[in-house]
Amino acid sequence: MKDVYDVTIIGGGPAGLYSAFYSGLREMKVKIIDVQPELGGKVRLYPEKVIWDVGGMPPTTGDEFRKQLIEQGLRFDPAVHLDTKVTSFDRLDDGSFVIYTDKDTHYSKSVIMAAGGGIITPQKLNVTGADRFELTNLHYTIQALDRFKGKKVLVSGGGNAAVDWANELSPIAGEIFHVYRKEEPTGHEAEVARLKRGPVQSFPCTRITELKAGSDGRKIALVVLERDCVTEPFELEVDEVVVSHGYERDMELLQQKKEEIGVSDDGVILGGSDGTTGIPGLFAAGDLLRHDGKLNLIAGAFHDAANAVNQAKQYIEPDAMKYGMVSSHNDRFKDWNEKIKAQRNCTIC
Ligand SMILES: Cc1cc2nc3c(=O)[nH]c(=O)nc-3n(C[C@H](O)[C@H](O)[C@H](O)COP(=O)(O)OP(=O)(O)OC[C@H]3O[C@@H](n4cnc5c(N)ncnc54)[C@H](O)[C@@H]3O)c2cc1C
Repeated sequence: MKDVYDVTIIGGGPAGLYSAFYSGLREMKVKIIDVQPELGGKVRLYPEKVIWDVGGMPPTTGDEFRKQLIEQGLRFDPAVHLDTKVTSFDRLDDGSFVIYTDKDTHYSKSVIMAAGGGIITPQKLNVTGADRFELTNLHYTIQALDRFKGKKVLVSGGGNAAVDWANELSPIAGEIFHVYRKEEPTGHEAEVARLKRGPVQSFPCTRITELKAGSDGRKIALVVLERDCVTEPFELEVDEVVVSHGYERDMELLQQKKEEIGVSDDGVILGGSDGTTGIPGLFAAGDLLRHDGKLNLIAGAFHDAANAVNQAKQYIEPDAMKYGMVSSHNDRFKDWNEKIKAQRNCTIC
């Protein structure tokens, strides 16, 4: 028999996780599907960066924030399918949805699309044999800054993220090289100025042409570089290599029903500020939704998510309240509140 969910959320980033929490608050049966092996969306890409601009939250690392997001998102025990790519969906005559993935088929009364910038994978270094170092000292994201302490680190890439990493690693690394193909790196003005103040050693108009392993055969020991203004290739001794050459985006899912959903040429949903799209029962939230007053921030993703859930609730139950009851007065939290109060030995409440 088909197991039909009230709402299926495509994407387990901030928008998807908050949608799952809010759907639980509104007593809906929820499922989250994400192609990645872990929840958290793009926040997985910046575990060591500190987030300051989420209201009411003290400065928190990406990793810590992601854990908190997941804890909140899973509060009402949604079904979670990871490592699962949503490939397409159809709206059936009864207004419900069938969702196709690379593994199986799912059924839902409504859908919230929270797929961010699509399936994001880092651009790999285009050098023969580079992939064999991915398990040792070739990095496409930085999981722990401590690993680079006192080491010779080479950062490759001329964009925003590469500039950020070079700056962030410079007080930690023993020596730091920054190579990029352009004459000037691009990035936030202040970050580029910081980079230029040193101690990062910059190599403009330069690209990696070869990675040479050390005597153990497992780790990169030398990076061969070519520079436009220098005829002969040259080598740098390194302990760690960080490659930040941007991301590839797979937005195939949105392209299939582009006209019906209302997808712009640059691949975002031009929806309502309440999360509605061109397809009844399909709602959107987070980075993939654009509307007047949209904030492409985590705070904006949360706002979208609550709106999308309220719309989904009304879609499947037209008599339901337009908005969810605030959490402080909501009986859904009653038992947990008692436990929290007991733990804190709260005498005034
Ligand atoms: C380096 C960096 C630093 C940032 N710092 C801040 C900050 O300090 N403050 C702030 O407010 N914002 C920050 N942001 C922006 C913030 O991370 C995004 O606004 C937020 O992650 C958007 O959430 P989302 O859920 O809409 O999308 P995402 O986080 O992109 O999540 C989308 C999820 O959908 C999944 N998905 C996509 N397509 C499919 C598919 N076909 N099938 C299954 N799953 C799919 C993806 O795997 C992903 O997990 C930063 C972004 C970056 C890159």
